[in-house]
Amino acid sequence: MDPVIVVGAGPVGLTLALALARHSVPTVILDEGPGKDEQRPARTAVLREDTAELVERLAGHSFGDADTGARWTGWRSMRRKQVTRELTFSDELPSPLHVPQHVLTGALRAAIAEERLVKIAVESKLDALEQDASGLTAHTRGPKDTWWRGSYLVGCDGPRSTVRKLLDVRFPGRTAVERHAVATLRTELPWPGEALLHRSPPWRDGGAEVTARPLADDGWRIDWLLPPRGELVTPDALVARIRETLAGWCGGATPSYELLDTGVHTVHHRLARRWRVGRAFLAGDAAHLLGALGTQGLDEGLRDADNLAWKLALAWHHGPRPALLDSYQAERRAVVAARLRAADQVLPGLRGGKGLRAYVPGAARGQDTLLMNGHVGNGQLGAPGAYADSPLAPESSDSVVAVDTAQGGPVTDVGVTAPDGSFVRLRDRLGRGRLLVVLVAPGTVVWERRHWMTAGVMPRLAAAVTALPHPAELLVAEAYPGAAAHTVLLVRPDGHLVTTLGGVRPAELYAAAEAALGMAAEGRRRARATGADGGRGTDDASTGSADGASGSADSTSGGPVGAPGSPPDGPSGKAAGSTPNKAASTAPTSGNGGAEAPGVPPGNDRPTG
Ligand SMILES: Cc1cc2nc3c(=O)[nH]c(=O)nc-3n(C[C@H](O)[C@H](O)[C@H](O)COP(=O)(O)OP(=O)(O)OC[C@H]3O[C@@H](n4cnc5c(N)ncnc54)[C@H](O)[C@@H]3O)c2cc1C
Repeated sequence: MDPVIVVGAGPVGLTLALALARHSVPTVILDEGPGKDEQRPARTAVLREDTAELVERLAGHSFGDADTGARWTGWRSMRRKQVTRELTFSDELPSPLHVPQHVLTGALRAAIAEERLVKIAVESKLDALEQDASGLTAHTRGPKDTWWRGSYLVGCDGPRSTVRKLLDVRFPGRTAVERHAVATLRTELPWPGEALLHRSPPWRDGGAEVTARPLADDGWRIDWLLPPRGELVTPDALVARIRETLAGWCGGATPSYELLDTGVHTVHHRLARRWRVGRAFLAGDAAHLLGALGTQGLDEGLRDADNLAWKLALAWHHGPRPALLDSYQAERRAVVAARLRAADQVLPGLRGGKGLRAYVPGAARGQDTLLMNGHVGNGQLGAPGAYADSPLAPESSDSVVAVDTAQGGPVTDVGVTAPDGSFVRLRDRLGRGRLLVVLVAPGTVVWERRHWMTAGVMPRLAAAVTALPHPAELLVAEAYPGAAAHTVLLVRPDGHLVTTLGGVRPAELYAAAEAALGMAAEGRRRARATGADGGRGTDDASTGSADGASGSADSTSGGPVGAPGSPPDGPSGKAAGSTPNKAASTAPTSGNGGAEAPGVPPGNDRPTG
C-alpha cells in the first residue's frame, strides 16, 4: 500500500502525519517551504485541553513550561474601569495552553525527525493531482519536478489550499470578519498569568476591545480589535497604542517592555463545501477559516487531524471503508459549521453597536460571557464539539444510560487502571488504533493485581471485549462524571464517546462498536444501493462518486482519471506504485509499513461484517 500524502507541513499536516504514524501508517509530507518555520512570536495559538494533550502526546513534549508555552491561571473581563467577570481555571474548566506557533511546529518537526514512518519533502510545491481507482498521483514543482504516488492524500495546505482548488471545491464565506493588530512583547502586567479582555478601555484611542494573553517567559500577546473597514495601523501608531495601553493598565506610566513581534491577524469565516473528494481530503485552514470572538481555527484543525487519522488508518490497513471515511466530513464539517453559525449569530449584537438585547437577555453581562466563552473554551463558541448526529452513532437502546458526557462528545480525562494493573490517564490510551472499553467500578483502586481480570464482572466484560469486531482495550475507572457503578463506556480512538451501557451487555457493546467503525453505516448504504439499483450492488462507490467529479472513492468500479505523463527518466508515478520518482531515498516505501510500530496491537484482525 502506498503512503498517505499530506500536503503542507503546517501544524495540522505535521500533527496528522504523526497521528498516522502512531497508527502504523506511513506518510510523505510535501511542503513548498524550506523545512524550517519562521520565528513569528505574534503568531500564537490557544489550544484547549483536548488539542494541547493531543499535540503533547504526539510530540512527546510537554508545553507550558517557562520556555515553551503558558497555561493561563485565570481570566478576567473588564469594561471601562470595571472588572466584570473573573474566572479561575480548574478541573471542570482546564486552563488553555498558549504557545507560539513556531514552538508548536518545532516540537512536531522534532518528533517527526525521529519517526521513520514520516518523510518530509521540502521545496516541493504541489501543482497537479490525479485520482484513480487505487490511489492518487501528485506532482510537485521545486528544485526537482517529481511525481508522487499515494493511497490517500490530505490537503493541509492552508487557507489558499492548492488541493482544494485542484479538487474544485468551493470555499464560501465572509472576508475580514474581524481584524486585529497584534503585538507580542515581554513586560510585567499587574495580573501575571491571567488573560484579560478589556472592552472600551477608558483612555484616548483605546479602541473597542483589547486582549492581553500570557505567553511563557513574561511574554504577552496583545490584540487590538480594529474597525471593520479602517486603515491598517502604521508601525508608529502601533507603538503609540502599545505605550498607551500598557500605561492604562499599569496606573498611568508605561512600564518597560521588549517588543518581540507585531502583525495583523485578519479573521475570515469560510467553510469548504466538501472535505472529501474520493481519496483526497481537506483539513485545517484548507477546510475552514474561523477566529472571530476568540474562536480558535488551529484548535479545530488539530481536531480534524485527530478525527481523520484513525479512520484513514483503518482504511489503509483493512481496505476500503467509504462510510467511515465519509463520516470525517459529516462529523467535522458539522461541528465547525455550528461554531461559525454561533459566532455569526452573536457578532452583529457584539460588534454592530446595537447592544445584545436582541440576542441575549442580560445585555452587557451576557456579552461579556459570550466573549469570554470563545477565549476560554466554553459553550458554543469554545467547547470542543460533540458528533451528535454522526453516521457512526449507534442505534438507541434501552441499555444506554446517561453520563455527563454527551454521546459523541470528547470523554473526560479520568484516571484508569490498565490491564497490567498500572494506573494511567484515559487520554494516554487514545490514538493507538484501538477502541477503549471503560468499566466504572468504584473501589477497584484497592483490588489486588493478581485478582484483576478475575474479579466481579470482569471476566464477562473481558470476553465481550475480546469478541468485538476490532481490537479494544479494557480499562477500569474508579469514577466517571455522572456515571453509576458498572456503567460501561465505549470510546473511539480519538477520544469521542460512542455509548454508555448500564452493565455488561455484550450484544449492545458489539453493535455500538460496529456502528463506531462505520460497519453499520456501510450496511445501510449497501442496503440502500441494493434497493436503488435493482440488486446490482455498487460496492462502496456511493460517497466518493456521489461526491462527483474527480473521485471514485475507494471503489474499483469508478473509472480512473487520466494518467499524468511519466517523467522522462523514470517510471510513471502511477506505474511505479510506491516511490516518488527521483526521490526514492526520501520517500517511504509502500507496504504495510512498520508492522512492529506501536499503533496496531498484535492480533489486529480485520473487522468483519
Ligand atoms: C499573526 C497571526 C496570528 C494568528 N493567531 C491565531 C490564533 O490566535 N489562533 C488560531 O487558531 N490561529 C491563529 N492564526 C492562524 C493560524 O496560524 C492558522 O490557523 C494555522 O497556521 C493553520 O494551520 P494549517 O496547518 O491548517 O495551515 P498553515 O499553517 O497555513 O500551513 C500550510 C502549509 O502548507 C504549505 N503549502 C501551501 N501550499 C502548498 C502547496 N501547493 N504545496 C506544498 N505545500 C504547500 C505551506 O508551506 C505551509 O507549510 C494566526 C495567524 C497569524 C498570521
